[in-house]
Amino acid sequence: MTDTALHILKSVFGYDAFRGLQGQVVDHVISGGNAFVLMPTGGGKSLCYQIPALARPGMGLVVSPLLALMADQVAALRQAGVKAAALNSDLPAEERSALWRDIYSGGLDLLYVAPETLLRPEVLDRLARASLSLIAIDEAHCLSQWGHDFRPSYRQLDALVARFPDTPRIALTATADEPTRAEILAHLDIDAADAFVAGFDRPNIRYAIAEKDNPRAQLKAFLKDHEGESGIVYCLSKRKTEEIAAWLCDQGHDALCYHAGMEKADREANQLRFQRGEAVIMVATIAFGMGIDKPDVRFVVHVDLPGSIEAFYQETGRAGRDGLSSETLMLYGAEDIALRSRFIEESGAPDERKRMERQKLDALVGLAETAGCRRQALLAYFGDSCAPCGNCDTCAEPPGVFDGVVAAQKLLSAIYRTGERYGQAHVVDVLLGEKTDRIVALGHDKVSTFGIGAEHDKRTWRAILRQLIALRLVTVDIMGHGGLSISPSGWTFLRDKPELMLRVPPPRRARRDRGAAG
Ligand code: ADP
Ligand code: ZN
Repeated sequence: MTDTALHILKSVFGYDAFRGLQGQVVDHVISGGNAFVLMPTGGGKSLCYQIPALARPGMGLVVSPLLALMADQVAALRQAGVKAAALNSDLPAEERSALWRDIYSGGLDLLYVAPETLLRPEVLDRLARASLSLIAIDEAHCLSQWGHDFRPSYRQLDALVARFPDTPRIALTATADEPTRAEILAHLDIDAADAFVAGFDRPNIRYAIAEKDNPRAQLKAFLKDHEGESGIVYCLSKRKTEEIAAWLCDQGHDALCYHAGMEKADREANQLRFQRGEAVIMVATIAFGMGIDKPDVRFVVHVDLPGSIEAFYQETGRAGRDGLSSETLMLYGAEDIALRSRFIEESGAPDERKRMERQKLDALVGLAETAGCRRQALLAYFGDSCAPCGNCDTCAEPPGVFDGVVAAQKLLSAIYRTGERYGQAHVVDVLLGEKTDRIVALGHDKVSTFGIGAEHDKRTWRAILRQLIALRLVTVDIMGHGGLSISPSGWTFLRDKPELMLRVPPPRRARRDRGAAG
C-alpha cells in the first residue's frame, strides 16, 4: 500500500483502513492502470477513484448519470476539503466560465459531469486542453443494452477511449452479470485482468432454497423460527400478496401488504409501519424495494421464483443490514420456471434480449438446483468467491448426486411414449404406474414405460424433471398447457448418453421438529 493513498484516506476521509479490494484498486489506478470495479452498493466504490484522483497530478473526471447523485457527492467532498465541482448544462454562463478557469489553472481535484454534457464536442475539446488524472465512469452498467438502466449516451462513452487514450479509466458498478461485464470491458477497452470484483458476500445471511410443495405450510414452518421478528415475503402477483397477508393475519401475525396497485397513501402508510415495527411481516411484490431502510429485517422469503439471480441477491440483501444473523428462503417449482419462461417469450422483446433473459433464468434455476454451497454459487455468478460457507441449506445438509442417465432415459421415453403432449404430473404418474382414471382412459397403462420408474418417489421424479428442463433436454409447452416434449438436445442425449449427474432432493425435514426440540 502506498503511503500517499493511506495518508489521503486518513487525512481527507477520516478512515483508518481500506475496505476489501479498495486498497488494491487504489494502488493500481494510482500507478496508471485501468480498472473495472464491481462491488455491491455501499461497498465503497467512490474512494476507488477519489483517492487516485487526489494522488495523481491533474483533475479526475467523473461521469455520473444523475444530477442529484453528483450534487450529493460534490457537497460531501467539499465538506472534506476536496476541490470538487459538477459541470452541468444549466449552470449560469458566469459560473461556467469561472469553472473552466478553475479547470485550466489546475485548481480542481474532481469534476463530475453527466455523459450528455461531457460528450458535447465543445466540452470534449475544452477538456482535451486540461490535465486529467483519470476518468471514472460511475454506474457503468448504464452502457449495457441488456441492463435495466440502459442509457444511449453512456454507450457513446467509448469516444473517451479514443480521445484520452493515455488517461487511466476506471469503470464502477454494483450490478453486472457476466454479459454486462463483458460489454463494459469491451466498450471502455479495459483488460479482463484489470477487473476487481469483491465484497458481494453477506456472511450473516443464511440461504435456503426449497422445492415448492405446499407454500403456505412451508411459510408457516419457516415463520415458527421467526416469532417476534420482522421480515419480507415476496410474491409474484398483487392478488397473492393480499391473500397471503390476510392469511398470515389469520394465523396471528402482524402482516401488511405492498404492491403497485395500492393507493399511494396506503402503500406509504404500510411502509412506515413496517419501518417502525418490531414484528411486522411485509408481504409484497417487487414494487417494495427502493428506499427500504430497515436495519433489522430478520428474514426474506420468496414464495415465488424471483426474476434473476441479481433480483434474488438484491431482495434477500434487504435482510440483516445490521449485520446480525438473518435467514432467507426461496421456494420454486416447475410451474414457476414455466411462468417465468412465458413472461420472457411473451415479452415482445427482440430475440437477442430474450436469449439473454433465458440465460438469466437458467442461472437462477442452476442456483436452485446446485448440489454445492449456495453462497459459492451465488458469489460465482458475480465473479466473487468464497469457501463452502456452512451457513446455507446445502452446506448444512449436502444433497446427494447420482448417475442420472437411466432416470433421464426413462423420463424421456415416458414423454415420448405418451405422445409428447402431457404435463409433468401425468408423465410422472405413468412412470410410477399409477392407474389414474386419465391414464386408463388414454390407454397409457399399456405403454412400455408404464410403471418403469418405481425406484424413485414422486418428489424425486419431479426434481429430476426440473433438472432436465433446466438442462434443456425437455421442453415445456408454455403457451399451451405445460405439455412436455423432447428437445433436440434431448434427442442427442438419447443417442449419445453422455455422463449426467443429477441431484436428489434432500429428505424433507420438517422444520417444526427443530422448534419442538429446541
Ligand atoms: P458505493 O458507491 O459502493 O455504494 P460508497 O462509496 O458510497 O459506496 O461508500 C459507502 C459508505 O462506506 C460511505 O458512507 C463511505 O464513506 C463508507 N466507506 C467507504 N470506504 C470506507 C472505508 N475504507 N472505511 C470506512 N468507511 C468507508
Ligand atoms: Zn454454503
